[in-house]
Amino acid sequence: MPGFELFGAEERKEVQDVLDNGVLMRYGFDPMRNGHHKALELEQNLAKRMNTQYAQVVSSGTSALTVALACAEIGAGDEVIMPTFTFVASFEAILSVGAVPVLCDIDDTLTLDPEAVEKAISPKTKAIMPVHMCGSMADLAALKAIAQKHNLILLEDACQAIGGTYDGKPLGSYGDLGCFSFDFVKMVTCGEGGGIITNSEKFADRAHMYHDHGHDHVGNDRGAESHPFLGYNFRISELNAAVGIAQLRKLDHILEVQEKHYTILRNALSEIPEVTFRKVPETGVESYAFLNIFLPTEDLARKAHKALGNHGVDACFYWFDNNWHYYRKWEHLLEAKSLSKFSEEIRTGLQKNNRTFEASDAWMSRTVSCLIKLNWSESEVNERASKMTEAIKSIL
Ligand SMILES: *Cc1c(COP(=O)(O)O)cnc(C)c1O
Repeated sequence: MPGFELFGAEERKEVQDVLDNGVLMRYGFDPMRNGHHKALELEQNLAKRMNTQYAQVVSSGTSALTVALACAEIGAGDEVIMPTFTFVASFEAILSVGAVPVLCDIDDTLTLDPEAVEKAISPKTKAIMPVHMCGSMADLAALKAIAQKHNLILLEDACQAIGGTYDGKPLGSYGDLGCFSFDFVKMVTCGEGGGIITNSEKFADRAHMYHDHGHDHVGNDRGAESHPFLGYNFRISELNAAVGIAQLRKLDHILEVQEKHYTILRNALSEIPEVTFRKVPETGVESYAFLNIFLPTEDLARKAHKALGNHGVDACFYWFDNNWHYYRKWEHLLEAKSLSKFSEEIRTGLQKNNRTFEASDAWMSRTVSCLIKLNWSESEVNERASKMTEAIKSIL
């Protein structure tokens, strides 16, 4: 998965363009830039690749989610439904706009369970935020139908599944807004960076202003621009955007390599009857960033994870015990530990999450996810396939 595995002359050239003219910021300084607008170019390329009208690049995936929520006017006391399996950024972004993250069960897609979403809706719900974890996606048609029925925003967190598709559409482009992360370990990296895609002119127009202190970006004099509403600084630097331009050009190659490696490993594990695979919605195509498997029980999943490590198979994860990705270890969220005082609405709203999520636990406790890397040679992938098979068979 990490795009940094493929760093080369292409990334260096794009960064060198920026260093040669010295303009590290995306706005202003036109006479000095030599025609280089890296952030803008990355936005144009991202919108084109994702078949959307608009793209906005920002400083991180977390900023992308924050800006997207703000553009959809989600704020004080509003509830946003998010899955129990994601990255902490999901609830950080929701809290940062003053809204309340409401945790919701996942199913065998390892993403939001549409039935559980329907049950989690309250009069305060404003948005549903599916997170396409580990290279595959939520059942977006079902979630869109629910969103439309209840007049909610559908905001896709596609940070871990860039390049995957659903119903022929790139992940992130199916809902009202979609977000990507370009942090250092993602499939396309800028070092640090993120992106928002949308077909809504209203949201796109808000995004460029909100992410840059509310500047309206009209005219050539930054100091004289007006501010239709308050914003913050979620800008990406030209240096980071430059890396992203070279990386995004490699996305289709990355997807091809991942699919090849994934398929070899999956075919090998398919021969073990006790191993089953994560469900991919009918019209979905994975990004193949991870191979996600289920063992028959929690005990066997723990043993399989351990055996994989002992057999020298690196980069396999047992998310059920993970600090960053699963709700069981988010005590800072569940106990509302914040430096500054939370609003009353957030404090009472968060109490909704103090419950167990048995359906999520039933799936996650049986899940082992293995990262798909890009630089494996053919013999390394084949060797990995036999080691994985051997490791899992050893505990059955
Ligand atoms: C990486 C990630 C983010 C946050 O991205 P950053 O760029 O690290 O802020 C958000 N959601 C998911 C699912 C992620 O994997």
